Amino acid sequence: MSWDRQIVLKSRREIEIMREAGRINALALQAVREAIRPGVTTAELDAIAEEVIRAHGAKPAFKGYPGPYPYPATITASINEELVHGIPSEKRKLRAGDIVSIDCGTIYKGYVGDSAFTMGVGTISPEAQRLLEVTERALYVGIEKMRPGNRVGDVSAAVQQYVESHGYHVTREYTGHGVGREMHEGPSVPNYGTPGRGVLLRAGMVIALEPMVLVGTPKTRVLPDRWTVVSADGSLTAHFEHTVAITEDGPYILTQV
Ligand code: MG
Ligand code: MG
Repeated sequence: MSWDRQIVLKSRREIEIMREAGRINALALQAVREAIRPGVTTAELDAIAEEVIRAHGAKPAFKGYPGPYPYPATITASINEELVHGIPSEKRKLRAGDIVSIDCGTIYKGYVGDSAFTMGVGTISPEAQRLLEVTERALYVGIEKMRPGNRVGDVSAAVQQYVESHGYHVTREYTGHGVGREMHEGPSVPNYGTPGRGVLLRAGMVIALEPMVLVGTPKTRVLPDRWTVVSADGSLTAHFEHTVAITEDGPYILTQV
């Protein structure tokens, strides 16, 4: 999936509003992180995120998002082989040894913050731990390239090279994206690419960079619920994301507390 949509540059003032959207989103994710333990349901995690977002006068960005049918929740909760877009459910309990990816979006004063993390539930295998570390580091390796004068391909290639140098795969089917008044604006920022190619990065662009990493294959498929994306071979997956403003001073991560 890619978003060949308009690239909208943001003013300083807009970036500060987006910083607040990002901060509220980070607080919601922090509350979810603290609640993750064996036995909790993904529906309970969803309720926690929504409560934090609304308590700050903001709205969930994912709820009602158009897709095969309007997205029904505040977060996506994707467990183990589920890469992205897992729908929270009161029937879905986390178990020790799982890894769970939580993605969340917040709309504040009309602007979106979008961020995701993956973490272990209880004790996880060394292999799962390594996957989390590589995926999170790939996000920061990519963010480091988000500077005026670089191109989208520099960011994409940095993520791909880091991930593949550790023996893992990046998805070809889902990408990072510009973000602003719309959750998905231009440019698309794939997790694979060629240095020096693609859209020129400029101060005022705001981009959600989101490495989606699979252990066994780059291929995915969608479950019959028409939202949940899983690795085609059932292998473990991880996902980290930040909304980042490109400024003259370098990358400015908006989705942190
Ligand atoms: Mg997201
Ligand atoms: Mg995103």
